[in-house]
Amino acid sequence: MSAASTVACRTILANISAYLDGELDTTACEEIERHCQGCPSCSDLVRELRETVGLCRQASSVPLPEAVRRRARESVRHLLDRESAANRSPSE
Ligand SMILES: [Zn+2]
Repeated sequence: MSAASTVACRTILANISAYLDGELDTTACEEIERHCQGCPSCSDLVRELRETVGLCRQASSVPLPEAVRRRARESVRHLLDRESAANRSPSE
């Protein structure tokens, strides 16, 4: 189950990045919610982002302060880097 969840995690992290760029729709938010129910590591990140940027809680039309957004992006990128280092994919 861990390999499948890694792929799923990357999708979720990409969705979170899209949210931070203001490009995430409600369907993707639902996917994030669903994934987090079975994934403690994403769940942790999402809970933290919910507190800092209101992830998937408020309308995406609400602009986020640049500093907050940058910090949140760094968290996501850090996780993505860790995922790809642990699971190197030559096709990417
Ligand atoms: Zn996950």
